[in-house]
Amino acid sequence: MVNVTFYGGVDEIGGNKILLDDHGTKIFLDFGMSFKRRGQFFEEFLNPRTANGIGDFLEMGLIPDIPGIYRSDLLEQHGRKSEEPAVSGVVLSHAHADHANYISFLHKDIPIYCGETCKRIINAVAEQTTRDLENEVIDFRIRPLYRSGYKIPPVIRKFRTFTTGKKFKIDSIEIEPIHIDHSVPGAYAFLIYTTEGPLIYTGDLRMHGLHAEMTDDFIIAAQQAKAVAMITEGTRIEKKKTNESEQKIYYDSKKKIQQCKTLSIVDFNFKDVDRFTTFYNIAKDLGKTLVINFKHACFLEQYYQDKKLKVPPITDQHLALLKPKRLTGTYINEDYTDTYIKKRLHYNNIITAADITKNPSRYMIVLNFWYFSELIDLKPKRGLYIHSLSEPFNEEMEISYDRMKNWLGHFDIEFFQSHCSGHINGDDLKELIKTVHPKKLYPIHTEHPRLFKKLPSKTIMVKEGKTYKL
Ligand SMILES: [Zn+2]
Ligand SMILES: [Zn+2]
Repeated sequence: MVNVTFYGGVDEIGGNKILLDDHGTKIFLDFGMSFKRRGQFFEEFLNPRTANGIGDFLEMGLIPDIPGIYRSDLLEQHGRKSEEPAVSGVVLSHAHADHANYISFLHKDIPIYCGETCKRIINAVAEQTTRDLENEVIDFRIRPLYRSGYKIPPVIRKFRTFTTGKKFKIDSIEIEPIHIDHSVPGAYAFLIYTTEGPLIYTGDLRMHGLHAEMTDDFIIAAQQAKAVAMITEGTRIEKKKTNESEQKIYYDSKKKIQQCKTLSIVDFNFKDVDRFTTFYNIAKDLGKTLVINFKHACFLEQYYQDKKLKVPPITDQHLALLKPKRLTGTYINEDYTDTYIKKRLHYNNIITAADITKNPSRYMIVLNFWYFSELIDLKPKRGLYIHSLSEPFNEEMEISYDRMKNWLGHFDIEFFQSHCSGHINGDDLKELIKTVHPKKLYPIHTEHPRLFKKLPSKTIMVKEGKTYKL
C-alpha cells in the first residue's frame, strides 16, 4: 500500500507538508510554514509563545499532531515524552519559507534531502536572521534556553544534498530530482519511484523565467515516467498566459532607469538570483554601481560558490555595500555587533549614504520598504523606485503599500512596477498536465483546486489530513 496524506498546502498557497508512506517507509515532501494559517491567528505583536515549546503551534494547527517527527526538547517543554523518529527523511523542493521553514520543529535525526544550491540559500538565511523557533532549519538550540544556555553549541541537522538527475534512495524509496525554473535557484521537482509506480511532485515551477529549459527537462522526464499520480502546484491556475518574462523586466526597468537623472532605487527579493542578475546587468550596462546591503552580501557570497549561477564576486566593480547607521550613528566599527556585518567590515567597496548623495545618478540601490528610513540619509530628489515584487494581495500588505507610497510622495520619488511571477500561469500548467498525463492529479498550493477538474487526469479534491491510496 502506498498512501499520501496532505498536512498543508490544501486550499492555500504554500505550507506544503506531504507525507508519503510506501509499505511503512515514510518520507515528507517539504515541511513548510503556512502563512495563511498563521495569519488567521497571529500578527506582528501576537506570536506563538516559545515558552510553551511546540504547544502553541500544535494547538492552533500550524503543524500537524503526528507522532515520531518532532524535536525532543520542544515536546518535553510542552509536557510530552520525547519520541523516536518515525519518518526517514524530508525531501525539500526549494528554500522558500512556505516549503522549508517548519523543518525547524523536526526531530534532529530526520535527514533533509535538498539541492546543493538550496542548502547554500538556507545557510545565507541562517547567517543574517535572528534565530527564533520558526527559522531553525539548519540547526537549533535546545530549549528551554536557560537549560542549555548559549554554551552548548546548536544541534546541527543532517543534510544530504543532490544535483539534477542523480537518483538517491531513502530506505526503499528511490527519488529522482529534476531541476525546474522558479523564483529561487536550487528548486526541484521529483519523480518518486513507489511500489505502485512513479509519483511526481512538481514543487513550485514556471515556464517564463531565465531558465525555462530546466522546466522543459522536467516535463520530458515526467512524460516518460508514465506516472500513476502527480502532486502539482496551482498557485496561478486561474491566470491566463501573458507576455511576462524576466527579459521584459530588464528592458522596461532599464528604460526607466536611463530616464532617471538622480538616484534609482530597486526593490526585489534577494532569494531570486535571476532578479538580482537582471538588475546587476542593468547597472553594468548603464555604467552604474548596484548598491546592496550586508544581508544581501550573505546571499551573494553563497550564490558565488555555485559557478552555474554566474553571479559576480562581492568585490565586483559594479557592486558596492551600504554601511547602515547603527548605535552612535558615526559608522565606527564598534557600532556593529551583528557577526554577518562585523566579518565584512574590511571589504573595500563599502560606502555610506553620504557617499551616494555626492553623485546619486551613479548608483542603483537595492532598498526594501523595511529599510526606507535610509531615504532620510540618501535624500533622493525626483528619484525612481522600481517595485519588482508582487502587488499586495491582502489587507496587511495594502496598509504597508499605502505607507510605502507616502514615503515615495514625501521624497518626490516616481513609482514603477516591474515584476514577473515565480509561478506558472494556468494555460501553461494545463498544457504541462496534459503532456505529462498522470493517471491521478492532486492539486495543492492553490486556492482554486476545482479549476483542475476539466483535465484528462482523474483530479482529486484534496482534504487536509485525509489519507489517499495512490
Ligand atoms: Zn511555494
Ligand atoms: Zn516557492
